[in-house]
Amino acid sequence: MKILVINAGSSSLKYQFMESEGGEVFAKGLCERIGIDGRLTHKVPGREDVKMDIPMPTHNEAIQSVLDIMVDPEKGVISSTDEIAAVGHRVLHGGAAFTESCVIDDKCIEAIKKCIPLGPLHNPANLMGIEACQKIMPNTPQVAVFDTAFHMTMPPKAYIYAIPYEYYEKDDVRRYGFHGTSHRYVSARAIDLLGNPAHSRVITCHLGNGSSLAAVQDGKCMDTSMGLGPLAGFPMGTRSGDVDATILEYLMGRYGYDIKEMLTILNKKSGVLGISGVSSDFRDLDEAAAAGNERAELALEKFSYEVRKYIGAYATIMGGMDAVVFTAGLGENSKEMRERICTGLEYMGIKLDKEKNNTRGKEALISTDDSKVKVFVIPTNEELVIAMDTAALCKK
Ligand code: ADP
Repeated sequence: MKILVINAGSSSLKYQFMESEGGEVFAKGLCERIGIDGRLTHKVPGREDVKMDIPMPTHNEAIQSVLDIMVDPEKGVISSTDEIAAVGHRVLHGGAAFTESCVIDDKCIEAIKKCIPLGPLHNPANLMGIEACQKIMPNTPQVAVFDTAFHMTMPPKAYIYAIPYEYYEKDDVRRYGFHGTSHRYVSARAIDLLGNPAHSRVITCHLGNGSSLAAVQDGKCMDTSMGLGPLAGFPMGTRSGDVDATILEYLMGRYGYDIKEMLTILNKKSGVLGISGVSSDFRDLDEAAAAGNERAELALEKFSYEVRKYIGAYATIMGGMDAVVFTAGLGENSKEMRERICTGLEYMGIKLDKEKNNTRGKEALISTDDSKVKVFVIPTNEELVIAMDTAALCKK
């Protein structure tokens, strides 16, 4: 089935038009500066990229411009929008209500709206994308695929916070976890590569600008590092990861920050950027560290140290591990970071093969033949999962 996958942000919208079986991508692109002025970048494999300034006061014009260029006789890839069998939307927060993807109807929209307080930045933007598609393509089925859904198999001891229980009961405060579509895709692929054993314990490391780990036992998520929101876990590009809440009170008192300013610091100025003062991009940090920048080196050490702690913790809760998977921008591309993380974990059965680890961006087994735990690089493909779920639900 030919599916249009949409990932709508507040001022941007990514799209990918693809085949759900096999994953061939016919066209993809990005609308930027929605609500400001509007710019479209459209890419078709084998052709030159198209960049156009198109007014996009709202997401409606953005979606319309995507459909217009898709049917354009020169730049397009289809002759009519009827060729779009369905639209799959990435939605950040599904709360506890969504354990899997769902066809978008009024009830689903209401449930996504109810999750706005949990995903205040993303869910309203995701809804704008959905509502624009409903308006412009009223007869095309739409499906929502949630970043949180894969993690809903976590047991209560993993998702409950040790604060008064009423906040869980009344206010839905619990661990939700994110990057679920990615953890789901790469863990399923790893289980395939392990030969589909009856039991499996896989630790998936989604390492990008935002990063999270998941413990996946027999294909089901048992724990994950992000929490109620995507700020939690280990340090990321610009996000702090878990911090002692006392720091908030201390800094807010000392500098007179309000909670918004404090959260901006934790979301945008922290992580490896905060420690290094150099960059949130790990390529810049590698370069700076190699040139002798001690804070860049400390940032890289801190990042790998915390990831290793999670690997140890997740191996413990699953009673061991059969595979570790690296994915996303950093996980797929940085042999340096994979080596930092795996070095010293030999006692747990992880033996990295330095030569095999010298790879980027493609699926590879990077552990030695005698490594008890298999270490894989598996490029993630969230769009394919969204397209597959969308097609499967539409066929139903
Ligand atoms: P996002 O979370 O925005 O989707 P990505 O998964 O695309 O992020 O990851 C982007 C990050 O991947 C960059 O910030 C960069 O730090 C890292 N990265 C990409 N390629 C390399 C590389 N060759 N070496 C080190 N880091 C890399």
